Amino acid sequence: MSEHILASAIGKVQDALASKPPRTQGAGTARGAPPPLGAGLTEGDIVALLEAGPGEQRTLFALADEVRRGFMGDAVHLRGIIEFSSYCVRNCLYCGLRRDNRRLVRYRMSIDEILAVAARATAAGYRTIVLQSGDDLHYRAEDIARMVEGIKQAADVAVTLSVGERSRQEYAIMRRAGADRFLLKHETADPGLYSRLHPGMTLEDRLECLAHLRGLGFQVGSGNIVGLPGQTARTLAKDIMLLRSLDVEMAGIGPFIPHPDTPLASHPPGDLSMSLRTLAVARLVLPLAHLPATTALATLHPDGRRMGLECGANVVMPNVTPLEFRRLYEIYPGSIALAAPDDGGLAQIHALLSGLGRQVSHTCGHSPKPAWAAGHSAASVGRRGLPPETARGGGRGGHEGGCKWQIG
Ligand code: SF4
Repeated sequence: MSEHILASAIGKVQDALASKPPRTQGAGTARGAPPPLGAGLTEGDIVALLEAGPGEQRTLFALADEVRRGFMGDAVHLRGIIEFSSYCVRNCLYCGLRRDNRRLVRYRMSIDEILAVAARATAAGYRTIVLQSGDDLHYRAEDIARMVEGIKQAADVAVTLSVGERSRQEYAIMRRAGADRFLLKHETADPGLYSRLHPGMTLEDRLECLAHLRGLGFQVGSGNIVGLPGQTARTLAKDIMLLRSLDVEMAGIGPFIPHPDTPLASHPPGDLSMSLRTLAVARLVLPLAHLPATTALATLHPDGRRMGLECGANVVMPNVTPLEFRRLYEIYPGSIALAAPDDGGLAQIHALLSGLGRQVSHTCGHSPKPAWAAGHSAASVGRRGLPPETARGGGRGGHEGGCKWQIG
């Protein structure tokens, strides 16, 4: 890797920060205005940043932290995850929930159980509930819609869905029920690697699902794994470039952790430094995206959550699933979530943030991009994106105000 390219990439970010274009980020660039932060970084620049040595890595992390503070503020959004089913029809090579893992004890939560857990989480202060499962077709789109409606009728919260690949029609039913966001990680932007890791699946289908979600007006999240077999810095650069071309509102980027009952049991875990650099570069390229300090990162290293928050992350996703189920949702073993109390470990998170001079957001933490920022208009985006019969109004919540470069 050329040090010249690395210095040039860092220089581009510093110039972009100094030239004050951030208020146009995500809204298109006015004629003659400097390009928005992140847009000027080429694939070569991103590779150079990902391969930064220890000295440049410190500069990279400091820049990512500065960009995070400037664009997203110091507030950290907590998303309470409910893992409501560990059944999955897919067979991803890296995942303990894969269909062929017969050793895993499977469970499904009833809609009433899910709503009760969501009520406890919202009473504890969560403003976003994430409903997550394997690709479990036992739940029809209408069932998921009932979950969303029940949660939103009971509390002023956002709902994120992470339930895998479905048809556009099914996604539309979920959106119509009021789901605000959808998380569907692309996992790797390398089509060949994607197909090898996901038997019977294609990256093309994944991207089609993401396009449907975008068209339906969801705030869209994607993301990738760091440390997959055969992955290189260039592969990871393509991941980040794909996230940029998808213009995601969220991106989950976390290290691979092997599960003993999968074909990748003997593959080493993702590298901590590379995981942090990928997160930091993503922050530079996606200044207005919500980026979590992932549970996988916190599982890989006892201080991983803090490290993530210091190099670009502005979100934490505590697990509020009842412990009896949580221990069975084993994508990888030893998750830090297993040690957290029912509320996901709020006291510990507050203490961590306080030590960092940051605080928990009290808003729903919608995307700060212009499309959603104007009075929070996931609903208005939905009205544009959805067929008339599926559009619904009444968007609630709003983005965190007071950020120095926040789009107003
Ligand atoms: S990664 Fe997701 S889709 Fe793949 S096996 Fe695991 S839960 Fe199922």
